[in-house]
Amino acid sequence: MSFQWAKNQAQNGIEDMVLLSKVTDDQITDNLKKRINADLMFTYIGPTLVAVNPYKRLPYFSEKEIEQYHGSAAYEHPPHIYATADKMFQSMITDEENQCVIISGESGAGKTECAKLIMNYIAAVSSKGGTHGNVVENIKQVILESNPLLESFGNAKTLRNNNSSRFGKYFEINFTKSGAPAGGKISNFLLEKSRVVGPGQGERNFHIFYQLTTSCTREEKEALGMMDPKYFHYLNVSREYSADGISDSEEYAAMKRGMEICNIVGNDQSSIFQILAGILHLGNVSFVEEGNDAKGIDKEILNAKLTSRIVTTGGFGGKRSSTYTVTMNIEQATNTRDALAKALYSRMFDWIVQSVNGALASLSRGIGTQSLCIGVLDIFGFEIFDKNGFEQFCINYVNERLQQIFIELTLKSEQEEYQREGIQWTPIDFFNNKVVVDLIESKKPPGVMAVLDDICSTMHAQVEGADQKFVQKLEMACSQNKHFKGQQSHFVISHYAGSVTYDCDGFTEANKDTPFIRNLFPEVVDELDKKRPTTVSHKIKTQSQELVDTLMRCTPSYIRCIKPNETKRPKDWDNKRVEHQVRYLNLKENIKFLRRFAILTPQTWPSWNVDMDPKEWQIGKNKVFIKSPESLFLLEEQRDRK
Ligand code: ATP
Ligand code: MG
Repeated sequence: MSFQWAKNQAQNGIEDMVLLSKVTDDQITDNLKKRINADLMFTYIGPTLVAVNPYKRLPYFSEKEIEQYHGSAAYEHPPHIYATADKMFQSMITDEENQCVIISGESGAGKTECAKLIMNYIAAVSSKGGTHGNVVENIKQVILESNPLLESFGNAKTLRNNNSSRFGKYFEINFTKSGAPAGGKISNFLLEKSRVVGPGQGERNFHIFYQLTTSCTREEKEALGMMDPKYFHYLNVSREYSADGISDSEEYAAMKRGMEICNIVGNDQSSIFQILAGILHLGNVSFVEEGNDAKGIDKEILNAKLTSRIVTTGGFGGKRSSTYTVTMNIEQATNTRDALAKALYSRMFDWIVQSVNGALASLSRGIGTQSLCIGVLDIFGFEIFDKNGFEQFCINYVNERLQQIFIELTLKSEQEEYQREGIQWTPIDFFNNKVVVDLIESKKPPGVMAVLDDICSTMHAQVEGADQKFVQKLEMACSQNKHFKGQQSHFVISHYAGSVTYDCDGFTEANKDTPFIRNLFPEVVDELDKKRPTTVSHKIKTQSQELVDTLMRCTPSYIRCIKPNETKRPKDWDNKRVEHQVRYLNLKENIKFLRRFAILTPQTWPSWNVDMDPKEWQIGKNKVFIKSPESLFLLEEQRDRK
């Protein structure tokens, strides 16, 4: 071991938990504790990397480590995310297989930091591109520097994390056969747009608003009518203006640099700032009964849009329909104002993501063929709040789907393979969350989403009682499922990571999403009508399916992030919280599984002699199964040396 920080095992814990003397949640937790106490944030479970958030900068992420891990054999150096990244990169080139890394863990566990470390490592070790050197350099720049741009618009301070990603991201980097980055594509999921109009107490709105209000230039300030954040309703509702560890002015500079690199310049850039300022000013528009006293922007059209809506009646059985305008009450007008702000923000966010993709696409045209890819999935963690709404429901659903992939690819399929191969095998008990996924997305019998879509298509979401009707129907449809419980205006789902009580208030409206858009952007109505059904849950389901399909086409690596405490402080270990994560991340099952047998495919079975006790292995119909980790390491060592 070349690292000073990898010293004594008894004191510093075990590097690969497959070697633990006893496999219990308690022992795993204890091992992770020993390691993080010695500033060792990474631990393996065979090929899976477990990363504990250290809440402080650790010294082993320099050029020196990048060099050390580049091209090194597994287990040659202490566990490190660079080893995981290197293995992905090498396998992509040697086996010509697309790779993906699924980074999971709850909010604040360190997923985004891990994703950035992987991107940095890959940018550092990948080929410089020979004759395409300049273009490759530019591509690397877009990949790395689009990050502060996206974080400014998509991240926010929450109670759990000062830089919480409020959107999910899958970043795919394409490579030439010789391993030079040749392009890439970002897919974004589920921006938490409700934050735009009202961050919760002690939380902030998206970072960009504070960057703009506190750090823009004098000219920008004047042109945009920028004021102190306290002046704006959408920022002052939560009374939180700063975030520890985040410098809004530095981030503003990095965000602007990201814009330039992604070619968001000139008019495009000023339009974005104008939209942001417009959203803030819009939030300050208030309404009074009668009269046109809307202040701030009181342009006639906006006023009419915000205070009235068009209602169409009739039009059935050959009768002509009639259209008339109804004036809204204060609550309806305020809701419409907020809907406009949310719609503007989320469309702008999509536009920014598309611009990053556009920048990558135009650069990659200069390179030509690209055949391989590495994808990095950094998606919001599982969420349980005191009050959980439709957004938490969607986020938790996506997490259930990801957990399914993990189960399908590691636990279930391999156990089934043992059975097929006729290996003596005591199945390992694990919770297969397929029942929960079905409960949410099944069409027949109808699951939560099907019931919700049904209500939305038969009832006007704004009609009173739509949410109540939803719970009633839900109870009828799902009460047989033991992972479901309906209670008046709430329902409870027992997710793999814990039980969550969802408050049905606003579910139907949030799922429909489109009535506002219909009213505000009539030009898109036709387009929307063509693509029915347009509910949010339908969109999430389709997007998750696309994501699952993409991931299933790649060789997956896993990083399981663990959050050691709720205080965001280094060296603060909350044993109960960690043990809970260890349990729901199925780490114990993962270790037990690897300890029994690890598979070597016939291709990798070494052709040289390995002196191994016959009890240590079994021959299946097509494969050889190795029993203990020591024997496996012996083999791995020999294979790596070859
Ligand atoms: P969310 O789901 O809310 O987006 P996350 O899992 O992406 O959460 P991060 O934003 O990556 O969490 O990490 C939260 C904070 O923890 C970081 O802002 C940083 O302060 C600290 N942190 C995470 N990883 C590291 C690390 N490797 N080194 C130092 N600090 C870290
Ligand atoms: Mg994050």
